[in-house]
Amino acid sequence: MMDRRTAIKHLGGAASALLLTETLRGEAALNGQAAAAPPPAPPTGPFKLPALPYAYDALEPSFDAETMHLHHDKHHQAYVNNLNVAVAAHPELAGRTLEDLVVNWASLPEAARTAVRNNGGGDANHSFWWPTLGKGSTAPMGELAKAIDAKFGSVSAFQDKLTDAAMHVFGSGWAWLVKLPDGTVAIESTPNQDSPLTAGHEPVLGIDVWEHAYYLKYQNKRADYVKAYFNVLNWDYVSGQFAQKA
Ligand code: MN
Repeated sequence: MMDRRTAIKHLGGAASALLLTETLRGEAALNGQAAAAPPPAPPTGPFKLPALPYAYDALEPSFDAETMHLHHDKHHQAYVNNLNVAVAAHPELAGRTLEDLVVNWASLPEAARTAVRNNGGGDANHSFWWPTLGKGSTAPMGELAKAIDAKFGSVSAFQDKLTDAAMHVFGSGWAWLVKLPDGTVAIESTPNQDSPLTAGHEPVLGIDVWEHAYYLKYQNKRADYVKAYFNVLNWDYVSGQFAQKA
């Protein structure tokens, strides 16, 4: 039988490189040296980063393409990766949906709780958020228009109140318009990546006020970013979603 080194000589390209790597690892192990293992890649599932439902520059100039790339491809991806790592470390969580994990994080095993709360929340909040952005109608429609009028009196009064909530989030978090179990709407804010779903409140729309959402373009001017948010709020989509769930 040919030995490995002779075999490598007879092979070409990638196959020989692979065999050589394997051979060297084997030799290192025999010599009592630790084989240099590459850092483990995060699991690729069960949770996946959803594609943006529009081009990265679709929300220009309000939300710039570079921020969208970082926000979606790096920040949202990190929540997904970290959630997959947490779930892989806790086999008892296998098969549970993202919403189930986000709603019930407080009753999870303690060792998984914080990772699922932060990263499950981060995945859920961003996955919810991307489709609520876009360009279209400048005002709510149908049932959502009625619910906003009933609660706030007018769309502009609602926008003032949501802006106020967004400006008063201390540190990182979100300001939301939610639908309460009685069918009415309300404004609330959540710290960090907590989701309104945990309290049984259905998000209708929201503003991500983490600095990663705006610092590149707006620096410390959160008010300008919040103003810009209303230019890219996809009222057609959020009104349609609200009517569907009515
Ligand atoms: Mn974010």
